[in-house]
Order: sequence, then C-alpha cells, then structure tokens
Amino acid sequence: MKPIASFFLLCLVALTAQAQQPRPDAFPPVEESIDSKSLSMATTLDEMRQWNRYPTYSVYVEMMNHFVESYPDLCHLDTIGTSVRGRLILSLVITGSEPNDLHRPEFFYSSTIHGDELTGFYFMLRLCDTLLSSYGSSADITNLLNRVVIYINPLANPDGTYFGGDNTVAYSQRYNANSVDLNRNYPNPFGADPLDDIQPENIAMMNYAEQHHFVMSANLHGGSEVMNYPWDSFTSDERTHPQSEWWQAVCKRYVDTCRLYSSRSFTAVNRAGYIAGGDWYVIYNGRQDYFNHHFNTLELTMEVSNTKKLPAEQLTRYWYIQSHSLINYIKEVLNAPQSQPQGVHPVQAEYLRVYPNPTLGPVHIDTPAGTRSLDLSDRPAGLHIINVDGHPVKIIKL
Ligand SMILES: [Zn+2]
Repeated sequence: MKPIASFFLLCLVALTAQAQQPRPDAFPPVEESIDSKSLSMATTLDEMRQWNRYPTYSVYVEMMNHFVESYPDLCHLDTIGTSVRGRLILSLVITGSEPNDLHRPEFFYSSTIHGDELTGFYFMLRLCDTLLSSYGSSADITNLLNRVVIYINPLANPDGTYFGGDNTVAYSQRYNANSVDLNRNYPNPFGADPLDDIQPENIAMMNYAEQHHFVMSANLHGGSEVMNYPWDSFTSDERTHPQSEWWQAVCKRYVDTCRLYSSRSFTAVNRAGYIAGGDWYVIYNGRQDYFNHHFNTLELTMEVSNTKKLPAEQLTRYWYIQSHSLINYIKEVLNAPQSQPQGVHPVQAEYLRVYPNPTLGPVHIDTPAGTRSLDLSDRPAGLHIINVDGHPVKIIKL
C-alpha cells in the first residue's frame, strides 16, 4: 500500500479541467418532474422485503448491516468513507465460505455516483440479497462466490440521493452536497492540469481502490440505456482501449441477455446497446478512465435505465430484465484478459501466518518483514478480509 501523501502527489500531477460537453444524462427527460408518490419509500426493513420501494437512508444502512447479521460467514461490511454531510459510503464484501480456492480475483460494483440515478442503487441492494440468499441453493451462485471476492457499493453519493432529507429520494440530485459532479472530479490520467478540489467521496473511493486489486468493476448510472466502455476521454479513432474487443464482447453479452427479457432494452443510443464512451460523448475526469488507467481495473460505465428516478413500481421489472446480466458480468472476471496480472492475488499467501483465526479480537500476522498485530474487537462478527502487503488475508471474527 502506497503512503497516502505520495499517492495524492502522483494523482495531482495528471489532471485537467477542460471545458466539456455534458453527456445526455446531464439533462433529465421532461417526464422526470418530481412525483414523490411514484418514488415510494420503505421506512422499515419489512417494507423493503417486497422490493417495490426505495429505502430511506436509515433503512439502507440497516439493510447493509442486516446482510452481515444474516450471513456472517459470507460477507462483512466496509466503510469506504463518509460524504460531505457525514453519510456513510458503504461496501458489502461477499465471498463464499468454501476454503478450497486460494486465488480469488476481486470484483467491484459501485452505483449512483450521480445521486439522482436511482435504479442502480436498488439493483445493488437486490443483488446483495440475491447472491447471499442463493449461496448453497444455486450451484451457479455458490460456485461464483467461492471463486470471486465481490465488493458492492450501492451508493457512492449518498448526499446527492438524500439531498431532500434522509426519508425521501424525490429531491435527489446529480451532485454531492458541494454541488460537484463526482463523475467529473477524478484525476484525469491523460491530462496535465491539476484538479484541486477532489471531493471527500472520491478521495475515499480512490483510497479504497488503492487498498484493493479490483480486476473488474462497473459504475452504474441512469438516464440512458447503454454499456459505455473506455475510453471516455477519447473517441475510438483517437485512442482505443487495449481490450476494446473484449469489452465489446462483454457488453454484447450483457445487452443480449437483457433482450431475452425485453427486446427493447438498451436501444436508447444505438442498436448495439454498447459504445466506446468517447464515441458517445467525450468527458474528462470521470471515474471510468481513472480506474482503467491508474489502477488497471477493467471498469465499465453501465447506464441501466432511461429514466433516472425510476418509479418504484417499475423497479422489479427492471431487475427482472437485468439481474441475470448483472450476475453474469461478475463471472466475466474469471476470464478477464491476462494483461491484468496485478488483479489476481492469493486469498491467503503461503508465507503469511495468521493466528489466532478465528479470533475474538487480537490477531497476529507473521510476514517476511516481521510480526504485525491488530485488534478486531470493535469489528462485527463474520469474515474480514485484511490487506497485508497487497495480499488479502481472511480472518474470521467470532
Ligand atoms: Zn450518471
């Protein structure tokens, strides 16, 4: 893990603040006037079980904790950081309890960096629930969880989503509480001018990615339906991503599977349903290019619904259309291009001795550099994955 100071120096070297043409998703369609009735809210966990409402902020946090309480052997909860207004940016870490696989690539889903693009937020919560509840009963999902460590951040911009208060998403907005578009606020890996106002939500996200080795990821948006693969900063004539053919195949599989359930899915931008980002609209300082270039993570931007604030009664239908594709996209990590060698790490490196494990709190880790100790007393029971010199170490807290 690089020291934070040098990390940010590196980041600050390569930034730009060029005038930019906004993407279509900057302009909400006319029908998206606020209709709080259609954005009905679940105020309890029980109400959320029908999956036909959006969660209040407290129900969202409660759900994330409830996953851990319900499936302590399969997941634990990370706090990536906090927003400008102190709301939590959470990540549920899910992996199978089967101890037979020493090499598990890390995969990352993150949604709603634009606070009013709500569909992905709901998708991610429902995906957590589906993966966890299917472990042991679905051979397909059991196998997937035993082979991959899946990180799910349902809400990257909680202040934007709950801009109107913790109990409604009707007044959700694109920006964070400082009126900054977080998806135009990452360092530009190709530019030269420093960006001097990287927002706390993004700093936390950059640190989180720095501490992991995400082989693949996706950043979920709304306002269109299209799979947007890198680069965003260039048209494909100017610069092609080295894996663009692989990206096209991955995107096609996502779109084709959705169209088994709804033939009109992903036709908003073109017939294919996928496009190189810059061929749609060039943007700078987005997360996709930063993740792809800086971390060598294969990150895709998914625009998952034409309507940003999807009426709650349509959520289940959208989930029905895209759930298989969302799960299949995780599986792609198992066949990701070999040009990403940093991505696959031993879950427990041979030379790391961890004891006691399971533990009630204190843990000692013997490494070639000596013994380190840490205390998990304050952490919830369940599986914790601690990063030691770039190696994820699994520790069970009792
Ligand atoms: Zn967006």
